Amino acid sequence: MTGATSSSAQTQQGLTDRLARWARGLSGKAEEEEEDAPDARRRAGTASSREIGRRRRLYEEIGDFLFAHDLDLTPLNFGVAHDYLTGANIGVEKAVRAVLMERGRITNGWIEGVAAEHRPDEVTPEALATMLDKVEENLEQFTGLMDESRTSARNYGAALQEQARGLESGGDSEPILARLVGLTRSMVEKTRQVESQLRDNQRQTLALKSSLESARRAAEHDHLTGLPNRRAFETVLRDEIKVAQESGEQLSVAFCDIDHFKRINDSHGHDTGDRVLKFVAGLLAKASDDRCHVARHGGEEFVMLFRGKTAAEACEAVDAVREDLATRSLVNRTNGERMERVSFSAGVANVLAHEDPRAALKAADRALYLAKEHGRNRVYLASDLD
Ligand code: GH3
Ligand code: MG
Ligand code: MG
Repeated sequence: MTGATSSSAQTQQGLTDRLARWARGLSGKAEEEEEDAPDARRRAGTASSREIGRRRRLYEEIGDFLFAHDLDLTPLNFGVAHDYLTGANIGVEKAVRAVLMERGRITNGWIEGVAAEHRPDEVTPEALATMLDKVEENLEQFTGLMDESRTSARNYGAALQEQARGLESGGDSEPILARLVGLTRSMVEKTRQVESQLRDNQRQTLALKSSLESARRAAEHDHLTGLPNRRAFETVLRDEIKVAQESGEQLSVAFCDIDHFKRINDSHGHDTGDRVLKFVAGLLAKASDDRCHVARHGGEEFVMLFRGKTAAEACEAVDAVREDLATRSLVNRTNGERMERVSFSAGVANVLAHEDPRAALKAADRALYLAKEHGRNRVYLASDLD
């Protein structure tokens, strides 16, 4: 290639760059910086300054977005913010736009839902829990193996030591025997070393298991209210159905949904809405014990599972919480103003009267719907035929 051709190629490249910059409406300053970009790129083999600038801006926009919505700095939130701001995932972009139009803010919990729906490859709590199950299973096997090999190493060591003692007490001091004794002792020593390594290994495994347990807790709990989440509830429901079928005990389920919660958000703001959610969750959680499981089913809806209570008894228990809440007068902490009454409606169903858990939940949901229809702030019992 001649010098002339090369310089004309450069001129053309410069022109293309300039046109591209002009089209993007970049400032004169950016243009100056851009002048030596090809050189810099060639020297360092890195992205152009325009590309770096673009990435820096996107990085800042993502940060602004996360802070504006008071979102935790998690990979999941970062990913959704990235998809929304770059438009890389149309589903995410649309969902974020819709929720911003509706209530102007998004929350950590809402992002988890969106990620589960629109980012199937994302490590959602569900995916994380499945992974944890697998890792735990592997660890269990590994620990079993270590136990086994530790026992056999110990047995082997003991047998070698006994032989060594026999050889020593035989009184025969032939050098070959002495060498055997030495050899045996060094094998015993090696076995001890291996044993100690295995012990260390086991300690690490136990520490890892406890970290996994914490991760599992995080995956099964709703971060706003601290209650178990829907996923955890579904596992409990499956287990409790088995137990109830075997023991012949009663099992009842209740859906509780805060009344006109959208209005609370609209008139007092999302943060106050969050605090009300936490407050209601706290009241429901007070009713929970080893025979009553309470979870956040999603949004402003909670679910309660009563072991050993008929649906009518469960109705009474839920109604007591409903009354407790409805008679309180809450104060908006941000401005000290008294809030309008907060209440919830609920629908209760007898789980075992239905063909499967899904049908039971549907029946409770239908009763909840009727409670709403008939004026809210009430608890309805589902018909077993629903
Ligand atoms: P209804 O009595 O019929 O249940 O009316 P509602 O307004 O409670 O029900 P709707 O389903 O119309 O609205 C529920 C609202 O709950 C909409 C949504 O923005 C809000 N919401 C869901 N999750 C959260 C959350 O985590 N925090 C806050 N502040 N609001 C939430
Ligand atoms: Mg509601
Ligand atoms: Mg609802």
